[in-house]
Amino acid sequence: MIKNLVVGVGLSGAVIAERLAKVLNEPVLIIDRRNHIGGNAYDYRDTCSGIMVHRYGPHVFHTNDKSVWDYLSTFTEWGYFMLKVKSFIDGQEVPLAFNLNSLHQVFPKNLAIKLEGDLIKKFGFNKKVPILELRKSKELSFLANYIYEKIFLGYTLKQWGIKPEDLDPSVTGRIPIYISHDNRYFQDKYQGIPINGYTEMIKKMLSSPLIEVKLNTSWESIKNDITYERLFFTGPIDEFFEYRFGALPYRSLDIVFRTYQQEYYQSTAFITFPENYDFTRSCEYKYFLNEKSNKTVVSFEYPQAYIRGKNEPYYPIPSEKNEKLYMKYQKLADIMDNVYFLGRLGNYKYYNMDQVVKNTLEFFEKLKSNL
Ligand code: FAD
Ligand code: UDP
Repeated sequence: MIKNLVVGVGLSGAVIAERLAKVLNEPVLIIDRRNHIGGNAYDYRDTCSGIMVHRYGPHVFHTNDKSVWDYLSTFTEWGYFMLKVKSFIDGQEVPLAFNLNSLHQVFPKNLAIKLEGDLIKKFGFNKKVPILELRKSKELSFLANYIYEKIFLGYTLKQWGIKPEDLDPSVTGRIPIYISHDNRYFQDKYQGIPINGYTEMIKKMLSSPLIEVKLNTSWESIKNDITYERLFFTGPIDEFFEYRFGALPYRSLDIVFRTYQQEYYQSTAFITFPENYDFTRSCEYKYFLNEKSNKTVVSFEYPQAYIRGKNEPYYPIPSEKNEKLYMKYQKLADIMDNVYFLGRLGNYKYYNMDQVVKNTLEFFEKLKSNL
């Protein structure tokens, strides 16, 4: 009988395995159906350029939570990096989140001054306003419609296949209009990229001799032959219950990598393309760790419908309907006393990495206190 079985070697699986081994001094078997550790945070050095690239799309770590930052900092040093994003609208690269600098870039001077005054009067300086909130404001309808159409509509249609107002407001609320001159994508206190990569950081988390990692091993392939005291499942919760109530919807991406024989390809790490092309954004990886090479690697993200077995379930789709379906699965989970669901897929939540780490650490503390 296995003491602790963890399914999925992403961040959530790695955190729970690390805690079980380090704090409880218990053995852990952790499996993944992929041929590498790291889950969607997996990165590797591109052989042709030597640049660190992120196989499942660009990952920038950011958090306001000191306990999460301190915990991960025991496994890695950080390259201090604050993401600045540009959005390509009307042929110009404009700072994103849309802020006062963006406003002054896209509008004539007098109009920009007027709109800036109206924004500050209504919401205050240094405030963040989600686009769907801004659109409710009659006096700012000209600006709201402009930002909605230029930044949010096309991108969201590509990314999710639906309009911003048909999505849970938390999704477009991730990138609010920022009434400030701060061009950073995130304002969190702690931001960075692990200096030797996420994969190396996660490898260190799993370095205890009490942890056995088995790759190329799916839950389905072992579930009938294995017994365990506790199971921690970080794959899709609907998959675990064999889609009993129907499949939870996800969005996927086709991420296309290109290597260019030139030092730099674009002006900043991320550029989003709400209006042009079929991809949503491009990412040039060498910016993350300020790597030097006469070549450069760029990824382009083409959103897709998720088709089970064909592509990856990258994004849970937050909506009332999907939450209701998820809760049906969660209820089944609640009555199992030795099976726990963790992470972005296990909890069917649009989590960033820091939330996954935080929730898993908190989950572990509860588990420990009930022993
Ligand atoms: P995952 O990383 O998905 O790990 C789950 C693992 O379980 C996978 O390796 C999978 O193969 C395995 N698995 C699943 N089912 C089974 C099974 N049945 N049997 C065996 N193994 C199984 N977050 C940020 O904070 N900053 C960012 O910049 C950022 N960028 C992102 C960009 C993209 C394109 C995406 C998709 C996500 C991004 N995220 C970002 C979110 C981040 O990837 C997640 O929060 C985090 O990786 C989730 O970790 P996890 O362990 O919950 O899940
Ligand atoms: N978004 C947009 N235009 C942009 C960037 C983001 O409309 O140029 C919206 C879009 O709906 C997207 C959401 O904001 O899905 C969240 O963006 P974020 O960059 O957080 O997405 P992620 O990094 O999770 O893919």
